[in-house]
Amino acid sequence: MPQNRQIVLDSRPTAEASTANFKLVTAGTPALQDGQVLVRHHYLSLDPYMRGRMNEGKSYAQPQPLGQVMIGATVGEVVESRHPKYAAGDQVTGMGGWQEYSVVDAGQPGALRKVDTTHVPLSHYLGAVGMPGVTAWYGLVKLIEPKAGQTVVVSAASGAVGSAVGVLAKVRGARAVGIAGGPDKCRYVTDELGFDACIDYKQHKDAQSLSKALKEACPDGIDGHFENVGGMVLDAVMLRANAFSRIAMCGMIAGYDGQPIPMAHPQLILTNRMRIEGFIVSEHMEVWPDALKELGTLVGTGKLRPRESVAQGLEAAPEAFLGMLKGRNFGKQLVKLV
Ligand code: NDP
Repeated sequence: MPQNRQIVLDSRPTAEASTANFKLVTAGTPALQDGQVLVRHHYLSLDPYMRGRMNEGKSYAQPQPLGQVMIGATVGEVVESRHPKYAAGDQVTGMGGWQEYSVVDAGQPGALRKVDTTHVPLSHYLGAVGMPGVTAWYGLVKLIEPKAGQTVVVSAASGAVGSAVGVLAKVRGARAVGIAGGPDKCRYVTDELGFDACIDYKQHKDAQSLSKALKEACPDGIDGHFENVGGMVLDAVMLRANAFSRIAMCGMIAGYDGQPIPMAHPQLILTNRMRIEGFIVSEHMEVWPDALKELGTLVGTGKLRPRESVAQGLEAAPEAFLGMLKGRNFGKQLVKLV
């Protein structure tokens, strides 16, 4: 059995996370028992939720235990199998974690899923045709419920989740407006993803200024907002929200390192009769098949062209993860292991 390089959580951050919180270790791979398969990971997914797991405090999920391999989704190839449904060479996705190999009890529900790479590249099963894509689908389709002609805004628009939100909104006949950091990301959002407009929030020093730009980009106001960021971005959107508008509260990355992100205008929820709902995608497994089908078709037909930032080698994971939290990624952040 191969040697397995792993990254474990070595300490919890007190404020901003740093590379010192992680440790690279090497371990043996245990011999397979009946029902198990050995998977070699080709790509590891880095996702913002991992920052929350590094903390000890109460959240919707248990904290990542210290000294154990960091949690994370992976795609790869079965190299050895003692499960009748899997054979060496199968391409699979699972929650293999920040390591080069994993031994998986393949019979456990949801532990492993075979994927078809005929029309969709393997890595996209960690992004647009994986958890981030389904997140976009659930928040948009089930919570925002856009109607043709309505305006939908999404923050972190060039990212794994945001890019899919805009394309799904366009398919439903809505006007899609992105908010993203920097001219290159905004160009990608409009030119390659087909959003109607994109605002570079870094050009705006406060919510009032960003809200003015939103007025131009959303002449009929905002009917639905998909929130990935919080803070100034959310305040600016709230100022342009229409009566009976909906906000899907997906992420608040501006506060993940402990920064305060107060909401400046909560009274607008009442005066605009808004519906604001938070959600966790893993609690809505019932939508995954429909969502993955639509997302797979959009990627396979070239209507959704996801971008990826790919760090090379397991040792690059901590730096790439911390960079993603600061917006240094452009699209889905991955680590290539093979
Ligand atoms: P992204 O690929 O969008 O990467 C994160 C992006 O967030 C960065 O590239 C950066 O883009 C933006 N960002 C970071 N800090 C700030 C800031 N202070 N202000 C504004 N933007 C910032 O990540 P994902 O697509 O994977 O995730 C997007 C959001 O969705 C996250 O908040 C995540 O926690 C959430 N999420 C929630 C799920 C759920 O079930 N509720 C499931 C999956 C994801 P830019 O350069 O444009 O600022």
